Amino acid sequence: RDAQESRGLGDVYKRQPLTENAQLKDPELTIIQGPEGPQMNHANSKSLFDAAQKVIPGGVNSPVRAFRSVGGNPLFFKGGEGAYLIDADDNRYVDYVGAWGPLILGHGSPLVVDALRNQLDQGIGYGASTEAEITIATKIVDIVPSIEKVRLTTSGTEATMSAIRVARGYTGRDAIVKFEGCYHGHADGLLVKAGSGALTLGEPDSLGVPKAYTDLTHVLPYNDAQAVEDFFAKHGDSIACLIVEPIAGNMNLVPPVPGFLETLRAVCDKHGTVLIFDEVMTGFRVARGGAQEVYGVTPDMTCLGKVIGGGLPVGAFGGRTDIMNMIAPLGAVYQAGTLSGSPLAVAAGICMLDAISQPGFYEDLGARAEQLMTGLKACAAAAGIPFTTNQVGGMFGCFFSEEDTVTNFAQVMACNSDHFQRYFHLMLDGGVYLAPSAFEAGFISIVHGDAELAATLAAAENAFAALAS
Ligand SMILES: *Cc1c(COP(=O)(O)O)cnc(C)c1O
Repeated sequence: RDAQESRGLGDVYKRQPLTENAQLKDPELTIIQGPEGPQMNHANSKSLFDAAQKVIPGGVNSPVRAFRSVGGNPLFFKGGEGAYLIDADDNRYVDYVGAWGPLILGHGSPLVVDALRNQLDQGIGYGASTEAEITIATKIVDIVPSIEKVRLTTSGTEATMSAIRVARGYTGRDAIVKFEGCYHGHADGLLVKAGSGALTLGEPDSLGVPKAYTDLTHVLPYNDAQAVEDFFAKHGDSIACLIVEPIAGNMNLVPPVPGFLETLRAVCDKHGTVLIFDEVMTGFRVARGGAQEVYGVTPDMTCLGKVIGGGLPVGAFGGRTDIMNMIAPLGAVYQAGTLSGSPLAVAAGICMLDAISQPGFYEDLGARAEQLMTGLKACAAAAGIPFTTNQVGGMFGCFFSEEDTVTNFAQVMACNSDHFQRYFHLMLDGGVYLAPSAFEAGFISIVHGDAELAATLAAAENAFAALAS
């Protein structure tokens, strides 16, 4: 503890010394040129995948981990260190998945690991209240001004599901509105035109979801303020809540166009509809106070997840006191969880929130992401490949698109998927791990430094050249 304090938070998360075998391999020396560029050995991953498929459906515990949309076999990993992932065959990759967002401090951050060790010494869980839950709730309330009260869950799915139940209880209305390409977890009523893994399956609706549930879910086009106004003019008074990713991060990355979030706020005010920002991905990722801080639009409720758990299973939802007081045991909306507020998850969360609160954290993170996007666009331009990017803070999106800017779902769907698939594998073979889907946002961490960015751009230069040839 003393050592941790004397080093100071900034030093601890800033830069981890790489172990000797973590040094970047010289791509010239270690990569064998294959038909489509360099090829790595993935024999162990392959046999693990074979074994996994016998006992786990599709070999994976979440569909987007499978390489269905890029082809080939998913990699199995055995380690993570700072900005790097190590696969089962000892290949090292600069990681831009970051466990799908949580690892904003990189892999194995000593801060988080120390916090977890300290908690482990005192027990794993009690199924009863702890002081640390007050600490994390207070920090969330301080950091996200629209949240006056907050409840913890074990996943983002539970956070959105519960927030919607509360909004329905609060308004006494059943119908809800979501947007095409937005993903809010896998609860029944939300699996309509959803993003993320649901998009890669090419079937936005899931079997097993009763039509009666999704009949209550209205879907509107993202970034189309007129469509929202038209819909609410007709049906607004029957809508319990409007849930939105304030920056869409599950159809690749599509930021809101100017005025879009403001329109959502205005129609919700007018019709007594609860405005829910699903900031499971964007919370503590695009800015300390999330997308609502970036765009200055205040929701009634906010859902959180990913970064607040530091890699442990956690979610949260919060909002105005009068709305949150509807929840049991205060109110009649039931919501619960055996592991909610797990001491381990809370310990990790508290140290995440402290780390991201260091001055300059988001300036630094955003600058790295921007540097990466500028570099990638230059590589693509040099090779003559149509390519554009979006970026907000520590998240980014890359598009094989002829468009200058990508602002809607149709443009995302029109991107060149063949280019993406080949690019994905070329980058993988160049030592860069990207999300195995064209519909996922990319994430950078605070320990992605100059060496990692340079290695990424070197791999990209080769990849774009291969695409062009
Ligand atoms: C990841 C995500 C969820 C679901 O969170 P889980 O922890 O996977 O259940 C919900 N909403 C958004 C915006 C997400 O990115």
